[in-house]
Amino acid sequence: MQLEAERGFGDLKGRQERFSGFVARTFTEPLAGITEPQRQGLEDLARALGSYGELSLARRQNLVRQCRERLHQLRQAHQPTIPVGPPRLQVGASSGPGASSGPWDPDTPLSEIKGVGPKTAARLAQLGLFVLRDLVHYYPRDYLDYANLVRISGLEPGRTATIVATVRRSNAFTSPRNPNLSILELHLADITGKIRVSRFFAGKRFASPGWLKGQQAHFPPGATVAVSGLVKETPYGPAFQDPLMEVLDHSHAQVRSESIGRLIPVYGLTEGLGSERLRQALAAVLPEVRRWGDPLPEALRHTENLIPRPQALLQIHQPSNQQELQASRHRLVFDEFLLLQLGLLQRRRQLSQRPAPPLVLAAGRDDLVQRFLELLPFPLTGAQKRVLAEIRVDLARPQPMARLVQGDVGSGKTVVALASLLTAIEAGCQGALMAPTEVLAEQHYRKLAEWLPQLHVTSALLTGSTPAQRRRELLRDLVNGQLQLLVGTHALLEDPVQFDRLGLVVVDEQHRFGVRQRNRLLAKGLQPHLLTMTATPIPRTLALSLHGDLDVSQIDELPPGRQPIQTSLLKGGQRSKAYQLIRDQVAMGQRAYVVLPLVDDSEKLDLRSAIEVHRELEEEVFPDLQVGLLHGKLNSASKQAAIRAFADGLTQVLVSTTVVEVGVDVPEASVMVIEHAERFGLAQLHQLRGRVGRGAAASYCLLINDSNNVQAKQRLEVLVRSGDGFEIAEMDLRLRGPGQVLGTRQSGLPDLALASLTDDGEVLEQARQVAQSITAKDPDLALHQGLAEALADQRRRQLDLASRLN
Ligand code: ADP
Ligand code: MG
Repeated sequence: MQLEAERGFGDLKGRQERFSGFVARTFTEPLAGITEPQRQGLEDLARALGSYGELSLARRQNLVRQCRERLHQLRQAHQPTIPVGPPRLQVGASSGPGASSGPWDPDTPLSEIKGVGPKTAARLAQLGLFVLRDLVHYYPRDYLDYANLVRISGLEPGRTATIVATVRRSNAFTSPRNPNLSILELHLADITGKIRVSRFFAGKRFASPGWLKGQQAHFPPGATVAVSGLVKETPYGPAFQDPLMEVLDHSHAQVRSESIGRLIPVYGLTEGLGSERLRQALAAVLPEVRRWGDPLPEALRHTENLIPRPQALLQIHQPSNQQELQASRHRLVFDEFLLLQLGLLQRRRQLSQRPAPPLVLAAGRDDLVQRFLELLPFPLTGAQKRVLAEIRVDLARPQPMARLVQGDVGSGKTVVALASLLTAIEAGCQGALMAPTEVLAEQHYRKLAEWLPQLHVTSALLTGSTPAQRRRELLRDLVNGQLQLLVGTHALLEDPVQFDRLGLVVVDEQHRFGVRQRNRLLAKGLQPHLLTMTATPIPRTLALSLHGDLDVSQIDELPPGRQPIQTSLLKGGQRSKAYQLIRDQVAMGQRAYVVLPLVDDSEKLDLRSAIEVHRELEEEVFPDLQVGLLHGKLNSASKQAAIRAFADGLTQVLVSTTVVEVGVDVPEASVMVIEHAERFGLAQLHQLRGRVGRGAAASYCLLINDSNNVQAKQRLEVLVRSGDGFEIAEMDLRLRGPGQVLGTRQSGLPDLALASLTDDGEVLEQARQVAQSITAKDPDLALHQGLAEALADQRRRQLDLASRLN
């Protein structure tokens, strides 16, 4: 029909028939898959074509136009609906690292390596990269995913992608608004759609028409091009701007570019060190990796489905595709966790080789623990019994116990701690109970004072504010063995405190009892058994990384009769609801906490403070009630007075900062109001909430959130939904990352380059199992020389780093 139109509608004569006859015949041939009306339409046209020869020129023109329109409609209706797969692109094998001009030792300074040079080495040093090994382990921060091959219709703005398409049109011009900017614009198409690609050239020299024409000539219409880049959203739909482009000889030709169609590593850079230079430096050192051994035996690698380490190191820098990248990452993450776990297991072995006092009861001895349990107004829960039994087995051994008891807030850890201490005391040793705050130490001491005299056990409290005279007496009794149980803060670890025969140390509410603290205890003579208790249920990945050297017991059951704490979110404007609830509860004989993030207004933030709210509640809101105030700036006597007044019911409302976060146990408290809740971590809020619901009464937690931040609200809703400390801790870890969750004071987080405690939990479990089975069979790693060396190496480098930091 195109031809008929070009020849002036003369009813072209073919070898056997004329145009009109040919078209009429084809229109009446049976066609599969067309509808009856469509067939009818074609037949009508065929009939009209029968008299084509007799029609005027204008009529003929009109009829041909109708035919073309009809065919176009048919084609539209019969678009193939089979999904189109991604385009193919032949990406050559990565040329990879060339031959090394080495051989170089992993400890060779980068400045001595040919292909790096002193200038680049100086820049690399700014990144903390000094020797060859450092650079090899400088992993990409991210990857540009040009291996994501898609059709044009499947392009997503904001993602990197590669397409293979045909040039339809092109245009090269200097921007009418900016004579310094020249633009090459290509219109590309594949079977799924069209896209516009722009290349920008800034500078006068690019504005010459000749030069622009030359650029345009690189991409003639009909040429097949491969394009890799970031897809941008523009007013004309998705587009590529300044992508990588290469004209292919034909659609199956291999790309020559080393970047198009691949995963491109992106590195953290520094002033004066561009990505190109960094890649060059890497290219110079990576060949060396091929000569490195694998610390894991082949058989183990095989069962654990791990690729060889040298291969992983090469591929993490130069992956050909996602699978290669994932396999490499898995192997390297595994190694980081494996070394971490092996290190922890070894430390634990060293500890257990030192003798500890076996706390075995002489036969026929009256059971102190039994009598203690009988004094309690309640029976132990199943979980408490089980954990206590685990502890008592440990205590009877001649190796020092290193055990962590985890149990959600209110699960009753204190009683377990006391029963353990009494076991030690009964065996003729002394015990120490340490708490993180004076408030908590005092509370523990008061609890003990209810029971210990009846059991004829001597005890004392030692904190930073114990008067000197009392302190002297107390230390004397400790050395001569008259004092059996000492309760206190970490001041207990200070030098003048010497025990006669220390058997067990319990550390309450501490996520981590550091190696350094343990060493201080060792310095006090005997190596005592050690029991750490925490209610901050840190997620398992963190627990394994931090406490892999501890045995862990879980009190995974709450005492019976506890009602779940009803948690709700309030806006600042709904504060009066909270006050009404407090009023109602106090009328029923209960008590309430109101917690604020700040002590006073001196800080410049626009937040309600404890002192301000205390005044407001005392004078305006609850003039008829007694309102107490507790915060960290009070001296220790005032703090204790405030807690005691609240515990004894002299005050019914306690306004406090997070001093009450851990441990405080007032069973009559049934309301917890937390102001500016969005400023606290989830785990911390869960701890605060745990201050209520400790008795049998229904309890309430009201989170007041004044921010309009959507994320803050989502975060807080986790608490409304869940009462499970472990679930909350997992969410906290995901939302805030491990550093935040543990707080800045909590050092000792492992140094992981690639592994993530948030995302690699499964690999951590895998590595832990392998570490355990290796240690069980080969405790000295004599048969795993590679691992022993890697471990020694890591330790040496940590020391190195520490001395450099110092
Ligand atoms: P946490 O594990 O948070 O330290 P506590 O040891 O302070 O918890 O115990 C919380 C409350 O539960 C305390 O008032 C304690 O007396 C009580 N309690 C502990 N064990 C039991 C039990 N087996 N049955 C009933 N109440 C218990
Ligand atoms: Mg406690």
